[in-house]
Amino acid sequence: MRVELVQGDITTMRDVDAVVTAANSRLRGGSGVNGAVHAAAGPRLLEASTMLAPCPVGQAVVTPGFDLAPVSWVVHAVGPDARRVGVRPDLLAAAYQAALARADEVGAQSVAFPSISTGVYGYPEDEAAQVSVTAVRAAQTQVELVRLIAYSECSLRLWQAALADDEEVR
Ligand code: ADP
Repeated sequence: MRVELVQGDITTMRDVDAVVTAANSRLRGGSGVNGAVHAAAGPRLLEASTMLAPCPVGQAVVTPGFDLAPVSWVVHAVGPDARRVGVRPDLLAAAYQAALARADEVGAQSVAFPSISTGVYGYPEDEAAQVSVTAVRAAQTQVELVRLIAYSECSLRLWQAALADDEEVR
């Protein structure tokens, strides 16, 4: 699997098979990246996602991408809310790996990820960067390309460092 790092808005990434959103268990829109993905994919996304709710923390569901076309799929991954359950690397890693498992089920080979849990959910971004890279690298998946989307310069630097650390360990 190839892992790329790009700075930008995940809703502008249209050359991937699937876009992951940092969802909540109710699989409703909301703020942050989830609000942006729902706005870009249109109202059919909410209809489709709420039919699959609730989704436990550390799990993920997949729906069509609707107006995000040519992106075929949106994977709704529920990361831990650090304000409620604390910093839980096991649940954060599970959310990344569940997203890849859902991508496999629909045959998506390229997947863009936001930094799950690091916004409203308050997961420390440096730790989340390490956890996400380790989880993605360790996943048993058919996905060929994972593109990490850093929304901020800070997020970009933290993911760069995590990817470099991971290379060193190999
Ligand atoms: P959570 O509730 O899981 O913390 P948020 O959406 O609040 O989810 O934040 C998750 C991460 O997504 C944050 O690092 C935030 O900066 C980033 N983010 C927000 N909007 C976008 C976007 N349009 N594209 C990519 N990343 C985004």
